[in-house]
Parts: sequence; C-alpha cells; structure tokens
Amino acid sequence: MDKIYFYLDCLKPKYLIPNLQLKNISDIDIDFLKQIGIKGLIFDVDNTLAPYHGTGLDQCIEQSFLELTQKFNSCILSNTSSERRKKLEEYFGIHAIQTPIKKPFSGAFEAALDYLETNPSETAMIDDRLWTGIAGANQAGLFTIKVEPLAMMSEPFRHTLVRIFETIVCKAYRK
Ligand SMILES: [Mg+2]
Repeated sequence: MDKIYFYLDCLKPKYLIPNLQLKNISDIDIDFLKQIGIKGLIFDVDNTLAPYHGTGLDQCIEQSFLELTQKFNSCILSNTSSERRKKLEEYFGIHAIQTPIKKPFSGAFEAALDYLETNPSETAMIDDRLWTGIAGANQAGLFTIKVEPLAMMSEPFRHTLVRIFETIVCKAYRK
C-alpha cells in the first residue's frame, strides 16, 4: 500500500516536472551543468542511451555521451532485469548500479549517489520517463533532465500508455 501512495505522490507537479526538458543528451550544456554545481550524472538506459532493450549507444548521441562521461562522474541506473543490468557495463562502458530497488523509489537514487560520492544537489538524473526516473529523482532532491525517447516504437505498449498518461497530467499542470 505504501508503494501506491508513493507512486501517487510522484504525480505532484513538483516531482513530475523536470528541471530541464531536452531532445536528447546531445543538447546538454556541459558549462551550464558545471555552473550550477553538478558533479555527477546518472543515466537511464532504455530510450535514453539506446532503443528499448538495446545493446549499445545510439549513434546520434555517442560523441556527447563520451564527452559527458569524461567531464562528470557517471553511472547507469536502470529498471531493467537483473540479468541485463549485469551486461550494461559491457554495453555502455560505465558502472551500472546493482540494486533490487527500482526507480522512482529513493533507495535506487541513494545507491547511485553512494557510488558517485556526490550529494543530491550536485547530481543530475537523465531519463526519458517522468513517472519513474524524473519523479523519483526530484523526490530525492536531484537535478532532473528529461529527454525525448530515442525510439518510442521499440518499447512495450504498456510503457507508451503510461507515457500518454504522464503527458496528459503534465499538460493539465501547465494550463
Ligand atoms: Mg527509459
């Protein structure tokens, strides 16, 4: 029951609305992130770095990803299966957080912050999903960057339905 309340709480505008909304990670302004004190980056995988269940970086963001991971302490935080999570380091070349706790629950972000050795306010979460990555990271006090999904057709239909719901809720807040 607590989990349901937590999910409902994540629908509040202060959690569901990201600090920045960009097309993809190529649009991230490194100087701006440095100016606001960001030291660590947490990357979602599916539809943020690769199509859903992809096995490597999408070509359109490859150069930007390499640059970002050189300039900031970085890691991956994905709600994928534990078997696939083990393979993510091989696919993307940075550490993937191994925790049974999933986004949006705070334990997932705490595990990532422990690895990065950064405070929430020094850390940005980059994710294509509002109700998991963005809402949870906002709850945990991180800076949040929402990107557009790289290949929406690659994901299960249930994800698309949730995405439509999230968009409707956000539009209602902006009216
Ligand atoms: Mg995703």
